[in-house]
Amino acid sequence: MTLVKKRWTVDAFRKKSEQQSPAKSPVVGKAADAMPRITGPQAREFAINAVQQALPERSFAVEMLMTDYQPGDHELVLNWCRQERDRELRHHLLRDMRQLWELHPQPETEVQMLLECYERGPCCSCRESVVDRLMKLSALPENLRAECAFDASDDIREMVSAQS
Ligand SMILES: [Zn+2]
Repeated sequence: MTLVKKRWTVDAFRKKSEQQSPAKSPVVGKAADAMPRITGPQAREFAINAVQQALPERSFAVEMLMTDYQPGDHELVLNWCRQERDRELRHHLLRDMRQLWELHPQPETEVQMLLECYERGPCCSCRESVVDRLMKLSALPENLRAECAFDASDDIREMVSAQS
């Protein structure tokens, strides 16, 4: 997903947000493409506010924050993912979190971030990317390697057996 192409106004964002009743909030992920976006400092402010107030739009918080990257964001985002209780929203945050590390590498915290993704991520596809990356970094812990040998995903089982 390219971030640069999406330039929406704050007003449009608010208007859209007002139209969404809290009861409909779970569909917010599906409405991602239709959702107005803002970038830069306004996006940062919105993202932080969305997380603090537990708005459904916090699903996009990491993505929005990345348009105005600042030192310290890796830790901020890790905390957001750790605190998120909604499974679907967390899935979204975790995927974007990996992208943050790709765009703004921070080697000293990458393994920790990947392990968080492994523990908290709900899907095989994300887990496969995480295990692949951990193996490339030679950082797949032995207990995870053992667990992966019994993973539901054929690809993950093959990946770890090929390298053991
Ligand atoms: Zn996933």
